[in-house]
Amino acid sequence: MGQEAIDRAAREARRRRVLGAGTGCPRCGWEELPALTKGANGVLCYECCCAAHGRATVEEHHHVGRANDPATVGVPGNLHRELSERQQDWPAEARRNVERDPLLWLAAACYGLRDHLAWWAAWLARVADWLVALARALREHSGPAWWTELGVGAPWQGAAS
Ligand SMILES: [Zn+2]
Repeated sequence: MGQEAIDRAAREARRRRVLGAGTGCPRCGWEELPALTKGANGVLCYECCCAAHGRATVEEHHHVGRANDPATVGVPGNLHRELSERQQDWPAEARRNVERDPLLWLAAACYGLRDHLAWWAAWLARVADWLVALARALREHSGPAWWTELGVGAPWQGAAS
């Protein structure tokens, strides 16, 4: 196990101790640890906490790392927490590129894109499973042609217009 993996496991264990086992956001069900926080009213995810306080739930993320490039992209707050957590696993010289070494800048860009795509790949599997469960429920509720019965059509209808 490398030092990054040890550090990540230590951060995760610390979060689990603070939050308690099996904790998720009671408002939206979010379960990924980096976005969960324990406040005076219990555990909430970062986005639900922002919404409860009237703050924006989308934030600017330094995709290549703040020390490498000031450019940002807007991402949902919970994803921002996860991506920032994963940046801590990058090699130190890629995170703190004080000499502006172009190879380290490119390495940070690769790590950033890898982290973003890895998160989305995991989410795509979850969304696909959720869509299958929703299709089953809609078929049971409204029949085998539920999209016609409910008058919502199919997403590919009207694509030519
Ligand atoms: Zn939430």
